[in-house]
Amino acid sequence: MELKICHLYPDVLNLYGDRGNVLAMKKRLEWRGIGCTVDEIPIGERLPLSKFDLIFIGGGQDFEQGLLLDDLRSGKGEDIRSAVEDGLTFLTVCGGYQLMGRYYETHTGEKLPFLGALDLYTVGGEERLIGNFAFETEYGPVVGFENHSGRTYLGEGVKPLGRVIRGRGNNGKDGTEGARYKNVFGTYSHGPVLPKNPEFCDTILLTALRRRYPSAELEPLADLSEREAHDSVLKSLTGE
Ligand code: GLN
Repeated sequence: MELKICHLYPDVLNLYGDRGNVLAMKKRLEWRGIGCTVDEIPIGERLPLSKFDLIFIGGGQDFEQGLLLDDLRSGKGEDIRSAVEDGLTFLTVCGGYQLMGRYYETHTGEKLPFLGALDLYTVGGEERLIGNFAFETEYGPVVGFENHSGRTYLGEGVKPLGRVIRGRGNNGKDGTEGARYKNVFGTYSHGPVLPKNPEFCDTILLTALRRRYPSAELEPLADLSEREAHDSVLKSLTGE
């Protein structure tokens, strides 16, 4: 088995070490003897996304997100929408997550027309939503760090990734965090999120592997330190 990962826009969307998510996925595959290739696609370059199994898009500041608009209109936006509908797995973080929605109206009132691959939209606010946070998902609790002015609201056909345990999540109001649609995982969680959330990381890897290898399984790893890191952050946030 081999997993082909595309790291999209690493040149402009890579806040708070989000690249660490790609490293964590690659390592957790290699530790199991599963091959993993990573191709980076910056602004201005275009590869057929259908050759990949998993697309990663990290976070970015409003200004960088604006830089992407022409590139998306050049055809990459359609490539991404087609890949979503074809069942490719996506992990999208913060700015990369907002990018998958219909638009992002920044806190200065600039409206960025985004992909519309997921039925959601984002509106920037004056107060930034910042801090360590935790949310409950069907894969167990996930811990991370959020820093965003955008408040994201989910539409029809899009489920939340989880429900906030501590912190703000999508918008600080409705208790939701992130989004799930087909094989797309969207979250506000930086950190990077995957190294200290091994269950969440393996869920994403299995989702991507099983599209090409339906009977794929991932054997357990000796990842005690990752689990201890996860549990200590969760305890510091919940006191339990
Ligand atoms: N610029 C977006 C916001 O402020 C995304 C931030 C991020 O990716 N951390 O909401």
